[in-house]
Amino acid sequence: MLDITPMPATDVAAADLAHHLHPFADMKELVDGGVRVMTRGEGCYVYDSDGKRYLDAFAGLWCVNVGYGRREIADAVFAQMNALPYYNTYFATTTTATARLAEKICSYAGPAINRVFFTNSGSEANDTWLRMARVYWATLGKSEKSVVIARQNAYHGSTVAGASLGGMKHMHEQGNLPIPGIVHIGQPYWYGEGGDLAPAEFGLARARELEDKILELGPERVAAFVAEPIQGVGGVIVPPETYWPEIQRICRKYDILLAVDEVITGFGRLGSWFGYQHYGLEPDFCAIAKGLSSGYLPIAGVMVSDRVADVLVNQAGPFHHGFTYSGHPVAAAAALANLRILEEERLVERVRDDIGPYFAQAWRGLSDHVMVGEAVSVGLLGAVQLVLDKATRRRFSRPGDIGMVIRNFCIMRGVIVRASADRILVSPPFTISRSEVDDIVSTLRDVMDFVS
Ligand code: PLP
Repeated sequence: MLDITPMPATDVAAADLAHHLHPFADMKELVDGGVRVMTRGEGCYVYDSDGKRYLDAFAGLWCVNVGYGRREIADAVFAQMNALPYYNTYFATTTTATARLAEKICSYAGPAINRVFFTNSGSEANDTWLRMARVYWATLGKSEKSVVIARQNAYHGSTVAGASLGGMKHMHEQGNLPIPGIVHIGQPYWYGEGGDLAPAEFGLARARELEDKILELGPERVAAFVAEPIQGVGGVIVPPETYWPEIQRICRKYDILLAVDEVITGFGRLGSWFGYQHYGLEPDFCAIAKGLSSGYLPIAGVMVSDRVADVLVNQAGPFHHGFTYSGHPVAAAAALANLRILEEERLVERVRDDIGPYFAQAWRGLSDHVMVGEAVSVGLLGAVQLVLDKATRRRFSRPGDIGMVIRNFCIMRGVIVRASADRILVSPPFTISRSEVDDIVSTLRDVMDFVS
């Protein structure tokens, strides 16, 4: 029998704090403050070991898009475990689940993308396309075209390449990052950095930083530009409408590959299968993860455009890259079952036409609050900017502190949200009901009333 069930919560916490090094944690603080032991989930709710119920407005970590407790996924996993728990995809072998999943993903991608490379995490997906981009240009006789331009305050994961592509200063400070060959330009964060410019002007100005950087480096040295369609971890930064068309124009003009990191935005969060469809982009690489399996098992990958895939498949020879669990059949079975739910329950359409617009209206209602500078959303991805003074856009002097205070009070009141500095972020399951949306919004409003 498994020995994970009968253990008092206090013992679980003690074992955890004595032996488990948590990701992105100050372990000393955690040991002093304690951990919450989560025990089960159902629909949009999770429960801790005291039986306290939380409305999970963050879908785990931007991933449990079909909600908790989906028996169909568990059954698919069980069946695949029994049939074939593992096989590699290295040596001219595949599995039915792996192949069917690759085909299924491409069926949502549009006509120009027909290949997927599987990884286990979003970070690995970003490492993967970075190497592919360099192999692509080297195969075409342009080995010097190897620099990648990324953005400040972006998040592309925690591997050495992922963290280097990301633009998080505190991550770069640990471990001598970024690695060579990766440079950063500004983010399209109008509220925080737009100054006197109108959003449309600012969007163009930030996009043109890409052009400036390409010209500074020389287009013959630049392999790719990478960005999240909407920066997630950095604060759900919704770019001004002028931003993406200009980025696409610049990439085409200088023959720079466009990589979109859709680890959060992929599989329906913005009300389209992918964020690049929402913004009308034609990417060469698309990193996918979280929503692919709704987090039920780890699986991720890179979707590759025909333009790049044709060179990789027909000219490049072997690609010396892969993971033991690339295309893991059990994870692939979980992803297939998850995608079936999205299709059968028309959840992407629901985000686009029904619950997304409802959420947008309710969420924007928060913008009349004295602490709220802006309340923005696309689909079921939302952020509230906390401010000291709406008129002047003056921010709190310790943005991280105010964000954590609001977040912690929301969680105490049973609604899980996330803070990124002075922005409060939500990304609820696609199955969320209207009354649950109302609960999220009213809890956040009550907490801001209390704190202001
Ligand atoms: N890219 C983006 C946009 C993300 O939001 C994340 C994780 O939040 C990652 C990459 C990293 O994914 P993983 O944690 O699966 O490595």
